[in-house]
Amino acid sequence: MRMSHHFLPGQGRQIGKTILPVIVFTLALTVLLAGFAAGRAAADGQDLPYTDRYIDLHLHLDGAITLDVAKQLAVLQGYPLPEDRDEELEKYLTVPEDCESLNDFLKCFELPGYLLQTPEGLREAVHLVADSISSQGVIYAEIRFAPQFHTKSGMTQEEAVQAALEGLKETELKANLILCCMRGEGNEVQNEETLALAKKYMVEDGGVVAADLAGAEALYPTENYRELFAKAKELGVPFTMHAGEASGPESVRLAIEYGASRIGHGVRIFEDPELVAMVREKGIALEMCPTSNRQTHAIADMAEYPFMQYLEDGVKVTLNTDDMGIEGTTLAKEFRYMEENFGLSPEQERIVLANAVDAAFTTDETKDRLREQLGLPKGTVIELLEDTLPEAS
Ligand SMILES: [Zn+2]
Repeated sequence: MRMSHHFLPGQGRQIGKTILPVIVFTLALTVLLAGFAAGRAAADGQDLPYTDRYIDLHLHLDGAITLDVAKQLAVLQGYPLPEDRDEELEKYLTVPEDCESLNDFLKCFELPGYLLQTPEGLREAVHLVADSISSQGVIYAEIRFAPQFHTKSGMTQEEAVQAALEGLKETELKANLILCCMRGEGNEVQNEETLALAKKYMVEDGGVVAADLAGAEALYPTENYRELFAKAKELGVPFTMHAGEASGPESVRLAIEYGASRIGHGVRIFEDPELVAMVREKGIALEMCPTSNRQTHAIADMAEYPFMQYLEDGVKVTLNTDDMGIEGTTLAKEFRYMEENFGLSPEQERIVLANAVDAAFTTDETKDRLREQLGLPKGTVIELLEDTLPEAS
């Protein structure tokens, strides 16, 4: 599962130059966090524990509808789901672990889709999902949804955004919204409207904070969205983009070229070592989602899942859920999965969380508060390293 060999053949000197600072970087941060951990351990007489607080930067609202939430939304909208058919309903909401096809996966979005077509449904979905992840240890989340998916019963995209904002007000969880434009055909006008709404409702914190590009990456390549995201840049709307999930490194390169400050997944960047170096040097965060990547076969063999290698290479990786309802996961489960299958250590978890705080679309003030809640040192990962590294020559 090690990916180091991708960096080696025929590129020795050049790569040596870029790899060395990364090794220093990773070592320094590990030492720094371990030192910090030792301080805490000395204080409470224990080793640094695995984390029980989390940050989710990549969570789709319609993918986060569990059976429990679905039932509450249905009641609210006057067509309760049958009480005695939970098993059957689960099949409509959750993919089986041995999910073989993308169709299986996509089928699971149908029922949530029906439940999110009114302002009440959307508002309550944001509220219930936020409350539910908060009870699972999430202390900050960026909830994303595509307003154009919620217009089937006459709600406008703008009303959808307003309803989601109302939902945010009803939860105690610190959360923000990301508006997704969708890959597809014939929805150019809808995507432009989504972007305009992102601009109109954009705040620094406590509301809409960014845009995204989601949908079938292999069918609708990133290059089709050059103009749309040139507009986003012009409007000053920060954005992330799903890329390097169903398509390869070229998709990620384009997303970065267009101005994405984060990448949804980016699993496949290991196929291009120069891109890995670029992602690291530019500090682009990867929003990785292991269970989702396993279920959609973003990588053929999970033993080759590149998360740990990216982490060791100094790439700003984060752990997220993607579609927690459909996948039957939680962010806590994602961390446990990485611990059990890839040996993710408590110290490494602190780095992953520090990366998430750095990459969050929120204010410095909120970031400082999150670092405090997570028991992280103050300052960004880079700022921390400036104090520990010798002056660059
Ligand atoms: Zn996603």
